[in-house]
Amino acid sequence: MTSDNHSRHRELQQDARAWADFTGTSYTAALRQVKSPLAQGLLGDRVSARHLIATLDEHELIGARGGAPRLGENGTFSTIPWRFNGRSDLIELALITDMLRMFAPIPDSATPEVSSYSLKHTAEEFLSPHCSYVSNGRMIWAAAALGLPIVDLEGSELNVLIGVLEREHDYVRRMVERGRIRPKAHHHRPAGYAYLRTALARAAAGEWITAGWTRRAPAAVSAPFHDWLIRQAGRDDVIGDLADDYTAGVRDSDHRVARTPDEMLGIFYEVSHSPEAYDAVVSAIAEWMMTVPTAKPVRTPRIGESVQDHSGWGAGAGTVERYEYRCPCGDGAIVEEHDNIPGFRDRDVSILCAKCSAEWRFAGGRSLSGWGLEPVSVTR
Ligand SMILES: [Zn+2]
Repeated sequence: MTSDNHSRHRELQQDARAWADFTGTSYTAALRQVKSPLAQGLLGDRVSARHLIATLDEHELIGARGGAPRLGENGTFSTIPWRFNGRSDLIELALITDMLRMFAPIPDSATPEVSSYSLKHTAEEFLSPHCSYVSNGRMIWAAAALGLPIVDLEGSELNVLIGVLEREHDYVRRMVERGRIRPKAHHHRPAGYAYLRTALARAAAGEWITAGWTRRAPAAVSAPFHDWLIRQAGRDDVIGDLADDYTAGVRDSDHRVARTPDEMLGIFYEVSHSPEAYDAVVSAIAEWMMTVPTAKPVRTPRIGESVQDHSGWGAGAGTVERYEYRCPCGDGAIVEEHDNIPGFRDRDVSILCAKCSAEWRFAGGRSLSGWGLEPVSVTR
């Protein structure tokens, strides 16, 4: 046994002894839990039994700190004592800890806003069948041991508020709870969500996962159109209404974030909307382009292409290339054509949609295949 292995082994033994004493079970039963692959720490270090026990005493909000216990099975000030089964209690606390680790902690300046009671339900669904019952008290215990921000929930004896991102929690709850409408977009998916689902299944199959998960700092994605649009929320006009709906849709994961006008039109291809809402998008894009003179004109997705042979006009055969793109409103097309015929070379791009030809024009100063559109109402 190497000295590393030796000290690790000793640590597991000490943990098992502490957990056995604390829960009134046998050392062997406690050691079996400590050594379970499910308790290995899937999104971080192994959860230490001694640290869990110390938290109940030392934590500034939920710790007894020499006095009467502050936390019980049903939550803060619960008089229901802990019910340890001696078989899976430590494993379950480790799993609840991993479930909490997948969320981004809230910024230091923010106030926790997710109640321990709703987190407990989400944890039960997410961790099922590996841990199908999570008490409110254990949820609070794991959060406290993990060092997440915790504050009292006003008007509630048993529940507290825990500092994980509310939007991420809402996303996971809607993914796992029966009868919920599933999120349609995934920008609020917690960083550790997919990894933890896989790791849980592997650990449940007895696997030791050696490559650890590291939380990556969120990449700073530039989303200038999105940033501008959400700032228009609350305005008393059609752009304000659009901004209100858009902001709510992003918050509720009903659609993606539109980093650019192109992506905004892309969202409108997919969600049902009124003609007025589409008109508001065109107005918003026009205003955005006038606000940000460097904004790029709009490109739409390609929906078809063809190359046809052409027998030519007497000077040899050639081809006609044709590329078709969706028009901004989605009901027609933009067609780009290249005639490569000896003696007859022609290139053209045009909008084949009555509505869009009235509302959009090709931005100047661009090559034919580098075309881009801007609303006709844009004045520079
Ligand atoms: Zn159109």
